[in-house]
Amino acid sequence: MIVSGSCLCTSVGYEVRLPFAKFVNCHCSRCRKASGSAYAANAYVAPESFRWTRGESLVVRYDFPQARSFSTSFCGKCGSPVPHLTRSGREVIVPAGSLNEEPGVRPSANVHWTSRPRWSLTSSELPIEG
Ligand SMILES: [Zn+2]
Ligand SMILES: [Zn+2]
Repeated sequence: MIVSGSCLCTSVGYEVRLPFAKFVNCHCSRCRKASGSAYAANAYVAPESFRWTRGESLVVRYDFPQARSFSTSFCGKCGSPVPHLTRSGREVIVPAGSLNEEPGVRPSANVHWTSRPRWSLTSSELPIEG
């Protein structure tokens, strides 16, 4: 099964072939900065299970110099996170919030859980409004 994704402005589009090799919520400080959110929902696929469908030339990559392996990519037009190949070249990390469709699976774990700030709560700890 193939699912598609895009950035907010839809200029950048991609497709991934399921299943994901791994799907986790990462609470590390780098993922928080890169996503601007409490955690990053990161899905992993093999490079051969990923392809850009449009806008690849708009993708801006940032290799965090202080880290051995941390990188991020985003749309140069709207700034949304988009998938990136890890520096090892072994996998593509897909920001799950950029998917257009339900992948049919949920994250299997919280990683770097102890790095989370105190305001970062699990959804079961919060009331549902709207
Ligand atoms: Zn965009
Ligand atoms: Zn992380």
